[in-house]
Amino acid sequence: MTKLKNIKPIQQWYPGLKNTPLLIAGPCSAESEEQVMQTAHAIAKLDKVNVFRSGIWKPRTRPGNFEGVGEQGLKWLQQVKKETGLLTTVEVANPEHIELAVKYNIDILWIGARTTSNPFSVQELADSLKGYDKPVMVKNPINPDIQLWVGALERFHKAGIHKLAAIHRGFYPFEATTLRNIPKWEIPIELKSMCHSLPIICDPSHIAGNTEFIPEIAQKAMDLNMNGLMIETHINPTAALSDMNQQLTPKQLDDLLDKLIFRSISVRNNEFISVLESLRDKIDSIDQQMLELLSQRMDIVGEIGKYKSKNEVTILQLRRWEKIITTRLKQGKKLGLSEDFIKKLLQLVHKESIQKQTEVMNKIAASKKDKTR
Ligand code: PEP
Ligand code: MN
Repeated sequence: MTKLKNIKPIQQWYPGLKNTPLLIAGPCSAESEEQVMQTAHAIAKLDKVNVFRSGIWKPRTRPGNFEGVGEQGLKWLQQVKKETGLLTTVEVANPEHIELAVKYNIDILWIGARTTSNPFSVQELADSLKGYDKPVMVKNPINPDIQLWVGALERFHKAGIHKLAAIHRGFYPFEATTLRNIPKWEIPIELKSMCHSLPIICDPSHIAGNTEFIPEIAQKAMDLNMNGLMIETHINPTAALSDMNQQLTPKQLDDLLDKLIFRSISVRNNEFISVLESLRDKIDSIDQQMLELLSQRMDIVGEIGKYKSKNEVTILQLRRWEKIITTRLKQGKKLGLSEDFIKKLLQLVHKESIQKQTEVMNKIAASKKDKTR
């Protein structure tokens, strides 16, 4: 569990926010007054988005790229708020950014993935935010370290910030993948189970890296009960100075939001509840059988361990292991199970079996030693 108590739900951050997914849209970076105003007006016209996002200071991997327009961009965001009524949010990475964001009445602050990875920076930001009532959204760190993410949230919470949310933007892949960042959905799910009241917003744009994959990721986030979406939107993505491939046009954003299905967590429908319950009963019974079978399998693994020990044979039998993999993958495929799933499952079972046989063999070896003493 976490120390995150009394988190304020998003609808209590500002009047007008409702208990529905928070929709945040806007360009990766503010580039010019014209680009910001045109994008904001087009987004506001959709009448679906709550918050306008824009990077003012951009963290770039290599120097020499466009690093944001700085303070003047905050004036454009003030203008956005005045003309459209949208709330505004920017990324802050140091105390000076906070000071300026507060000076220009930015409504919500977000902490970028690179900053979350550094507890020194996070602490400095948390200290600078003491006494301000600004909601803070903390992106996941670049590496899939849930403790680092929770730690950053706790630092803000300790500084008195209870209007807190997490943003899931995926994790750096060490190998080339179709997505820019690996979602690793199990991590935000784990975060939610560590703190039920913490809102989690998904940033499909930085997970996808390409507009093509955004709808699927956004739908998945909604199906996992996430509390909002942050989607990069630019009036003319082909001319964007950063993240050009992943920014939607306002029209594409409109289509995406139209097609998204917002399912509810539960319904007060007796028929639905009873059907769901009977299906869950079946799952419970299958799980029970699965556990019993695994336990029986482990007993046999132990017997084999004893037998191998008696005959002085090694634990790992590569040919046998390879045969298990190929036959089970074939069987699994016939049964409609994905190769990746079966492989991972077998690897887990095999690892546990090796562990079990190691214990058995060590025990026998230790008792033999005792007897020869
Ligand atoms: C961004 O939101 O534009 C951004 C820089 O995101 P991240 O910190 O997730 O890379
Ligand atoms: Mn971006």
